[in-house]
Amino acid sequence: MRVELVNTGTELLLGDTVNTNAAWIGQRLAALGVQVQRQTIVPDGAVIRVAIAEAAQRADVVLVSGGLGPTNDDLTRESTAELLSLPLELDDGVMAHLHDYFSKRGKPVSEATKRQAMVPRGAQVMPNPCGSAPGLYLPATLGGFLGWNAHIFLLPGPPRELEPMFKNEVEPHLRAWLPDGASRRVLYLKVTGVGESDIVEAVEKRLECVPGLDLGYCIRKGDVDVRLSGGESNVNAGAGIVREAFGDCIVSEDRRIIEEVIVQLLAERGEQVTTAESCTGGTIASRITDVSGSSHVFGHGWVTYANEAKQQQLGVPLTLIEKHGAVSQEVARAMAEGALNNSGADHALAVTGIAGPAGGTAEKPVGTVWIAQASKLAETWTVRRFFPGMRDRFKLLTSQAALDLLRRRLCGLKPRA
Ligand code: AMP
Ligand code: MG
Repeated sequence: MRVELVNTGTELLLGDTVNTNAAWIGQRLAALGVQVQRQTIVPDGAVIRVAIAEAAQRADVVLVSGGLGPTNDDLTRESTAELLSLPLELDDGVMAHLHDYFSKRGKPVSEATKRQAMVPRGAQVMPNPCGSAPGLYLPATLGGFLGWNAHIFLLPGPPRELEPMFKNEVEPHLRAWLPDGASRRVLYLKVTGVGESDIVEAVEKRLECVPGLDLGYCIRKGDVDVRLSGGESNVNAGAGIVREAFGDCIVSEDRRIIEEVIVQLLAERGEQVTTAESCTGGTIASRITDVSGSSHVFGHGWVTYANEAKQQQLGVPLTLIEKHGAVSQEVARAMAEGALNNSGADHALAVTGIAGPAGGTAEKPVGTVWIAQASKLAETWTVRRFFPGMRDRFKLLTSQAALDLLRRRLCGLKPRA
């Protein structure tokens, strides 16, 4: 099934509004095994008509968003009616909805709004419980006289109106039109701690041998999504290859990010984690507390930037810092173990490194970081990593590596060499 999107609105081209409708629809369609063939963004105005006509010549389904409102730049309904030579007729059902919608808000239905009750002859109204403008479905037969075979759906621009309408009114049609047994599956394997090029090198050749498997990579915050799509058995075969190569680096197979996985693992065990952060300045704690439900697994943490703070708050001996330097295996270990003892948590993460651009030495260049993970009744783990580059990226990758160390502890895995 060839699906195209036409997103209308000058604000999208000015960059004032991000085209989240396209992203959201793309994901919904991907879940049905359908990939959008093309997206077109056009400003408000007559060009909407051209964009819909072009898309309808190529596609089986054209999804249009925006321009159904009451203002005089909202022209999608009129442009489409004109394109298909359909007269606009007042729809009593929509009129009743408008009266109901506005009376609940203590307002009369304005003349401008009444335009929303005009429906091209032959179009089907898609109710909008979350707003005033209804959506419209124009079956493919209406464009047959132009030699097209495209179903056209006109959807409202505001995401909170478009999303429920798409789920309730558009998806049932799409499901019915998808051929039986052609169901495709999309699987995302989230891999962390391995670069995209290493993933490609390790598995691409083997994945390309799986017939009917579509493959994609997307670099995310600190990890890589390997996207496998195709028939069920092909996707399973592909997933087997990736698991074999990177099993213990796979954070999730359901798009959850590492902090979500960790919060869930800790919650299931009824355990807590604490943090002692130097160079990440609280990024690890911030990421954990981004997850809803984190209050059950995170009570408090430390940002100990100065040596004195490491000493006073975490009990890191000053002699240790003087002997090995603040960025050292010994200090990272002492920070994690100090945090564990001082907090009462079951697990602790500690990081100490050189974010740069200043402060590097030949022995410890900018980007060097030591990460430690301590748990009750277990041997403390320490790893050295090197993330040269900008400060924000250093903080992100360091927090990712630290979280991965905890994930590995909770999953009974070993640290990566
Ligand atoms: P419209 O019905 O075209 O006037 O759109 C109403 C509002 O919906 C706009 O002001 C935007 O805030 C929002 N909107 C429209 N199109 C999109 C889109 N493609 N993605 C996200 N928001 C949108
Ligand atoms: Mg608009």
